[in-house]
Amino acid sequence: APFLQTIKADPVKHALSVTREQDFAAWYQAVISEADLAEESGVRGCMVIRPWGYGIWERIQKLLDERIKQTGHENCYFPLFIPLSYFEKEAEHVDGFAKEMAVVTHHRLIQKDGRMVPDPEAKLEEPLVVRPTSETVIGAAFSRWVQSWRDLPVLINQWANVVRWEMRTRMFLRTSEFLWQEGHTAHASVDEAVEETMKMLEVYRSFAEECVALPVIAGEKPENERFPGAVATYSIEAMMQDGKALQAGTSHFLGTTFSSAQNIRFQNAEGQQELAQTTSWGMSTRMIGGLIMVHGDDDGLRVPPRVAPYQIVVVPMLRDTDEDAAILDYCTDLVTQLNALDVFREPVRAILDKRPAKATNKRWGWVKKGAPIVIEVGGRDVAGGNVSVLRRDRLYREDGKLDSAIIPKDVFLNQATGVLEGIQATLFAEAESRLLGNIDKSITELDALKAYFDASSKPGWALVQWSRPTGAELDKVVQWLKAEKLTLRNVPLAAEAADGACIFTGAPAVERVLVGRSY
Ligand code: AMP
Repeated sequence: APFLQTIKADPVKHALSVTREQDFAAWYQAVISEADLAEESGVRGCMVIRPWGYGIWERIQKLLDERIKQTGHENCYFPLFIPLSYFEKEAEHVDGFAKEMAVVTHHRLIQKDGRMVPDPEAKLEEPLVVRPTSETVIGAAFSRWVQSWRDLPVLINQWANVVRWEMRTRMFLRTSEFLWQEGHTAHASVDEAVEETMKMLEVYRSFAEECVALPVIAGEKPENERFPGAVATYSIEAMMQDGKALQAGTSHFLGTTFSSAQNIRFQNAEGQQELAQTTSWGMSTRMIGGLIMVHGDDDGLRVPPRVAPYQIVVVPMLRDTDEDAAILDYCTDLVTQLNALDVFREPVRAILDKRPAKATNKRWGWVKKGAPIVIEVGGRDVAGGNVSVLRRDRLYREDGKLDSAIIPKDVFLNQATGVLEGIQATLFAEAESRLLGNIDKSITELDALKAYFDASSKPGWALVQWSRPTGAELDKVVQWLKAEKLTLRNVPLAAEAADGACIFTGAPAVERVLVGRSY
């Protein structure tokens, strides 16, 4: 008996076979497969995005697209193939992407020794790059569109797929082909272009926090982390549950790098020729990886209601009896009433899950997918005018039992939108306290910095003072960090002013920079 007392069983048997604590990387893969988000495709680094995963992406697209349009941008579409010569015009840019470019060289196959091979006769005169990003081709269009200061600013965005031949891939976080939006703008002055860069950084911050419930730190990337060709790169950084950082969106001030390469010139009000100032900014399917690693738990994904394809799933408990028809009527009616409600200024997205499967399997399927609310209805609920409500943000009671509450249907209809708002807020608050509670601001020595990251397998980040070194001095810092598997994340816009010495160089610090492990 005394022996048994020491073996306290976890009161909860979770839905996933591996927990975050046991193996975070394996847990992440388990969520992706158990929540039916995506799967491998046979091409390394390319994934099949399944309906639930793609549904989340469509929600992200819709809400972000609204914000992109509200800030004055229009959508358009540019070709997938970009002539190699466009890249060659901008040395730093082509250098930055050369290692990960997919290149098309032929346009026909022929039979040779029983196999299909590219036809040497059908070699392209000029190789075509599968776009890794579209500054070059969009810049070429801008040079045609812009003649006078009256043509500026040009404010466009495209939703597209891009290809970067990544060596270390991980589903959603870093794939060889990914989906994203890329904004591209041209302006008459530096001030205006910088204002645009900061405006879109703020759009990303507010979108991530308000829609995906992903708290982030917005700031400027240090020189070594800049986008190839950018004058300045800004990012939002999110903290995953294992403490690692994820760059969740970037906004670049490109100065005249691309306007000089692509010849985007305009006649200013004084009649002189000037180069335009350009910007670009992007957010990708990586966001879904962030959502999983920030909100997932040992029972699967938890999708914030604003980006959940379905917010409320109604599961009828059918028994193959005469009662079934009444249960289905009751559920259909409930779904209709729910869909007539508004939440977050949009209609509620409720669905009836009529699939011929056991109700408990369907319930756990939706729990793993992370539907915010799962409603179960059996014969007794119909008779009593009730529903059984399960909230994905608090699945269990203190005693480890599933926290499903039986309440009158009308009461639920009155509360439903409030509960969805509550779940959205809870997910954000949990993630925000984790982020803010895991940034150490007290470290002033390199030994202490090393010790902080060595001490725990899941450390957070450190905000340290630094002198903003450049060139060779910065290289030394980056080398030291690399040896410790650390990276510079960004210089938070909201950080306090520096008031000490740089932790790396000892010189007077000019700002504070975030250090962390990263994806
Ligand atoms: P960039 O054009 O490099 O500034 O990237 C724009 C956005 O795409 C950033 O938010 C990145 O986090 C994201 N991103 C970059 N590379 C990948 C990748 N291989 N897979 C998924 N997202 C990516």
